[in-house]
Amino acid sequence: MSAELIDGTTTARRVREDIAKSVAELVAAGGTVPGLATVLIGDDPASHVYVRNKRRACAEVGIRDHHRHLPADVDQATAAALIDELASDPAVSGILLQLPTPGHLDAEALLALIPAAKDVDGLTTANAGLLAQGRPGLRPCTPSGIIVLLDQYDVPLRGAEVVVVGRSALVGKPMAQLLLERDATVTTCHSRTRDLSAVCRRADILVVAAGIPELIGPAAVKPGATVVDVGIHRRDTGLCGDVDTAAVAEVAARITPVPGGVGPMTIVMLLANTLTAARRQQGMAGRP
Ligand code: NAP
Repeated sequence: MSAELIDGTTTARRVREDIAKSVAELVAAGGTVPGLATVLIGDDPASHVYVRNKRRACAEVGIRDHHRHLPADVDQATAAALIDELASDPAVSGILLQLPTPGHLDAEALLALIPAAKDVDGLTTANAGLLAQGRPGLRPCTPSGIIVLLDQYDVPLRGAEVVVVGRSALVGKPMAQLLLERDATVTTCHSRTRDLSAVCRRADILVVAAGIPELIGPAAVKPGATVVDVGIHRRDTGLCGDVDTAAVAEVAARITPVPGGVGPMTIVMLLANTLTAARRQQGMAGRP
């Protein structure tokens, strides 16, 4: 393997330490402790694990945990009332509705009840609109974590040819917009793209969020490119991403591993968004 590995675990630890310091400074400056309300509906085992990890991460940086759990058969009105309650609670800086919700609930309608200022996942229409217009708002965690990683490894973005594979509201679209904000030249690919390999080979930076195991091999990578693998898939042999890491590492200059690349950054950006939300709500956005 010749490519440098972009270490998301170490970068996330560093960012987490900075957040812990900033939370302590906010409180020392007379602010109130930031609080995150994770809302889990039902008993999906994977969602339980994700929420537990998020709550643990909050505790590590001094963010207060306002977790709420509703039963799988809860009705829409009760779930909506909980979101409304959290929306008006000044101790709650951020609200995260864990998806997917049980099939009988309208998750879009529940998400729409989260005020933009508390939308720490950055997924509401209001925050997506602010991002599209290049105005300040809370940004989705995975793509903003990727920007932090690229900056940490001094990967130049201005003028760079970037190809993003995937156009989801969660990853691909906001990724492209954040890269545009940083003056990259961005191409977005999707399932109808003609000759994906040829388009990807143009990229100085290739971000892959397609949800297909090892979709991208070395023939789709320009020698010396930086490759960011967002995909995560469980196989009998362990975890893998959307990129054939071992083969692509022979061609690329830098690559994110799976696990230990993008994944750890996603949670840490949730903490960063919660801190940002708390500061703005307290009129302390300019403070450290
Ligand atoms: P998604 O909503 O399923 O979107 C996948 C995107 O990839 C779609 O835009 C789709 O195109 C495109 N696509 C599918 N097949 C393609 C192909 N053959 N060629 C080109 N584009 C193709 O997935 P997502 O939520 O963005 O997530 C993507 C992956 O990242 C998943 O594996 C997910 O588990 C992972 N993920 C990881 C993290 C993390 O923290 N590490 C966070 C979020 C997601 P169409 O729009 O045309 O259908």
